[in-house]
Amino acid sequence: MKIKKLEIYSYDLPVKNGPYSMANAEVWTLDTTLVKITTDTGVVGWGETCPVGPTYAEAHAGGARAALIEMAPGLIGTEVLPLKVQRKMTSLLNGHNYAKAAIDIATHDALGKYTGLPVADLLGGAVTDRIPSYFATGVGEPDEIAKLASEKQAEGYPRIQIKVGGRPIEIDIEVITKVWEKIEGTGMRLAVDGNRGWTTRDVLRVSRELLHIPFIIEQPCNTVQDLEKIRPQVQHAIYMDENSVDLPTIIQAVGRELVDGFGMKVTRIGGLHPMQTVRDICEARSLPHTCDDAWGGDVIASACAHIGATVSPRLSEGVWLAQPYIQGHYDVKNPVKIDGGYISLPTGPGLGIDPDEAKFGEPVAFF
Ligand SMILES: [Mg+2]
Repeated sequence: MKIKKLEIYSYDLPVKNGPYSMANAEVWTLDTTLVKITTDTGVVGWGETCPVGPTYAEAHAGGARAALIEMAPGLIGTEVLPLKVQRKMTSLLNGHNYAKAAIDIATHDALGKYTGLPVADLLGGAVTDRIPSYFATGVGEPDEIAKLASEKQAEGYPRIQIKVGGRPIEIDIEVITKVWEKIEGTGMRLAVDGNRGWTTRDVLRVSRELLHIPFIIEQPCNTVQDLEKIRPQVQHAIYMDENSVDLPTIIQAVGRELVDGFGMKVTRIGGLHPMQTVRDICEARSLPHTCDDAWGGDVIASACAHIGATVSPRLSEGVWLAQPYIQGHYDVKNPVKIDGGYISLPTGPGLGIDPDEAKFGEPVAFF
């Protein structure tokens, strides 16, 4: 089975009750990019990539489409097999993992539909059909975030991640303290995500003043060097998120025992094929990790659910979906959503969803 046709779509995903705020970005609406591959057997596969605006990472929507347009002519005729497609993409364009992820996801979807297997089976096999999620708050006021934490705990979420950074550190300390007062003893796990927004000075202070609260600190500072600097001085577990941009960085972080886990984004690393490698490296060293969206609609959500379903339960930190913040679904019959803090693994071959392509309008490019 070979790629016969490739179409690229741009779609504005509406954000509910916007903006969503992080230390370094505000999200009102999201420009997502969808890819549809049609194979010579007639089987179709869908992929998606959706950077969270242009400042969260090096990725941006226009860049994703430019990279896809650069690779697309060379991908026609490529066998629809994940490793072959990845190697072909490497031969056509250096870097731009987030754009390659859309092709990789579409490849898995098409291969699954062709073989009659769900994507989770192609990735080694699901260990659950009810995947834990976690709720990520925006950067907000202490009482407001504490109330939200309480509500999400009552809804059934096994984990909450609170966003911090970009303001006086005293407010962040108050948020963490107030959230913990609400969830202590409930079993809900707590992650504190700086999204690169804290200085090393801030991390040292937070960890020292809140030693009694068991949270993990996710990507507090901007660089790997910052993490190296704080690592020996901090008592809390540290996860890497935004810095884990490629496999060499992850292998080095694991080998040097720089972190205790990862917040992983399927699109940042280049799709499901490299994400499987991350999963296996983490399992070999007993490191917990998430399998997240970098935002996006049902296509990315389904891809994350499928890989998330294959993670060993003791190491699964959940699958975050943008769904609670996004209006509407691509597939209204089989939407991918979080219910009581968990995601039902989509059923059927491939990604298990059938996007309504009329939503996306005319393709911005086709090959
Ligand atoms: Mg994060």
